[in-house]
Amino acid sequence: MAGFGEQERRARRDVSRRRTRRRRRATAALALLVALSGTIVATEARGGHARRSRSRRAAVGVSVSRSGTALLTGRTRALSPPPPRQVVRLGAIPASRPGRASVFLHGPARGRMVALTFDDGFCPSCVARIVRTLLRTGAHATFFPNGRYAASWDPQAAKIRTLVARGQVIVGNHTFHHVDAPVVGAAVFGADLQENERWIERTFGLTGRPFLRPPYGAYDGGTLAAAGAAGYTRVIMWSGTVADSSLRTISYILHAIRIWARPGAIILMHGNYPPTSIALPRILALLRRMRLRPVTVAELLGGSPYRPAKPASSVP
Ligand SMILES: [Zn+2]
Repeated sequence: MAGFGEQERRARRDVSRRRTRRRRRATAALALLVALSGTIVATEARGGHARRSRSRRAAVGVSVSRSGTALLTGRTRALSPPPPRQVVRLGAIPASRPGRASVFLHGPARGRMVALTFDDGFCPSCVARIVRTLLRTGAHATFFPNGRYAASWDPQAAKIRTLVARGQVIVGNHTFHHVDAPVVGAAVFGADLQENERWIERTFGLTGRPFLRPPYGAYDGGTLAAAGAAGYTRVIMWSGTVADSSLRTISYILHAIRIWARPGAIILMHGNYPPTSIALPRILALLRRMRLRPVTVAELLGGSPYRPAKPASSVP
């Protein structure tokens, strides 16, 4: 028979076990809540432009860059200081260098960089506001414009060229007519890609090579072959999105950034609805608080066709 001391010990043990169980249940509930809220955005992220099945199909049978595996293992380090403001020598448009196209879902975790990318641009005031914010803040980003929305991009061309010369912006190709590559086939896709390249060259005096963002995130083997043949050897997908192919609230967009912004992330955004462009200064402040540095896809993955100009000190 247990003595009083033994009974007391048992009672204490029971209380402590009950507490542990309660704590575990609460933690599990919280984890479920977090997972659920993540799933909502993740589902939309994969939808991209609300073509879920196609995106999934796109993921089959392609070589995905493995440079991002560090995403899972990357240690949290102090944010490396921003590189000194560089000036890029734009010069003549570099010749196309055909090659094998690689697909990137995200970049390496080292350096705590995040690539913000803006596609389409069917809202002229949104594109103008994004450009203004980048000029004012010095933040880095990547544009994937379609020539069919030239009315939005043309008025910003000079400012965008300035941003590129400052090393702040890279312009990539998103096709002229926003074609669905696997649906239209490699030949039509290739021609549309070239049409957009000609428009980018005419408008900005730049090439979009080697960066391609396939519309709807949809591609197949033929798409990659056509892209590679046209010098588009870096196919930029995304690891997170603010899901702004539809109209979203600013708080929705900021919430998505909180979920998806992490070292090496590529974030899909659009110049299509005002909230994204209005939210941009707050997105940049949020990234600063998260100790993440917004960069271009060229800074994240390499492959820029533009050479940094020699620093003034080394010029004789
Ligand atoms: Zn698009």
